[in-house]
Amino acid sequence: MKIEKIAKSGFEEILVCEDQASGLHAIIAVHNTRLGPALGGIRMHPYATTADALRDVTLLAQAMTYKSAASDLKLGGGKAVILGDPAADKSPERLYAMGRFINEFKGRYIAAKDLGITTEDLIAVAKETIYMTGLPETMGGSGDPSPWTAEGIFAGIRACFQFKLKQLNLAGVTVAIQGIGHVGLALARRLHSEGVKLIVSDTNPDLLKEVAEKLDAKAVPPDEIYDMPCEVFSPCAMGGIINDNTIKRLQCSIIAGGANNQLADMEKHDQLLRDQGILYAPDYIINAGGVINIYVKDILKEEDAMPWIRKISGHLLDVFERSAQSGKGVNFEADKLTQARLERASIRRDSDS
Ligand code: NAD
Repeated sequence: MKIEKIAKSGFEEILVCEDQASGLHAIIAVHNTRLGPALGGIRMHPYATTADALRDVTLLAQAMTYKSAASDLKLGGGKAVILGDPAADKSPERLYAMGRFINEFKGRYIAAKDLGITTEDLIAVAKETIYMTGLPETMGGSGDPSPWTAEGIFAGIRACFQFKLKQLNLAGVTVAIQGIGHVGLALARRLHSEGVKLIVSDTNPDLLKEVAEKLDAKAVPPDEIYDMPCEVFSPCAMGGIINDNTIKRLQCSIIAGGANNQLADMEKHDQLLRDQGILYAPDYIINAGGVINIYVKDILKEEDAMPWIRKISGHLLDVFERSAQSGKGVNFEADKLTQARLERASIRRDSDS
């Protein structure tokens, strides 16, 4: 096992891990543990370079710090990435090696599932480490976080409607969902049951056809989703999709979806959305339902996460109000509030020690 430490300003610890025997190449980043152990999923992706993987893991780890802090969880932020193609480069030995690398953090990093990793993979990693969440309910774990993430987004969309359009009833409104995987599909089902008209897109044409038929939704090719007239655009696939090219095409009044790191340029696009009259629900607040479910069930060992997940509405309304008063973007106000919470935690910790 070869472990190399990387120093990066603002991060507590980053390890580049290589297991020559199995061929595992991974990076684990702990951004911040002021509020508690750093929780974040393991992502597997065929990154073109190690630098690309490092960029992704650090952005995602930082987003986890903000996500937990914004939802008032006693958790910090971390993330892990495995470099490789999930369809071709997985082996039990690589997953076991990943578990051993996680142990290097002695509980300061706690893993979960993310893109490219299945529940079976998680179980394999957990053979070597106890620092694992989101295991199946049959194994005493909190299960798949995706339906809970979708519940949080649903609550968040209602908060957006309440703030922007002064209504809570979603029947008859149109929501365009980009990506109908674990989160997007659960959200689509939830919205469909409330009488919402759906427009859906996905890069998987078979899935798109099946879901469109079942939920009476309009299916559009991936690139056309940005041009669809709708009340809500809900990004539930990749990050960086709110950018210079897409922002001028959007025909919605609200952006509220589950994807992480939706704004390509946090500052610029946050303000541009505000100037364009589009209400943006900061991704790390609205998509926190999954981590909340993990926290409540795996860490607190309580049974019902819904009372916590419903609080997402209040957290959003708070930052919308602050943005309306200051004239700054919603994401700016969310970051300011979250940073202040982290600062306070650090002052408390310093005075306790
Ligand atoms: P997933 O892999 O199950 O689903 C993603 C879907 O998006 C797939 O069906 C894929 O084919 C599709 N897709 C990919 N690129 C696309 C594109 N350009 N246009 C349209 N569709 C595209 O992943 P998921 O678990 O549903 O997560 C979705 C997003 O939400 C990710 O950004 C993830 O990081 C974030 N997220 C997930 C959770 C969770 O609980 N699963 C929690 C918080 C945030």
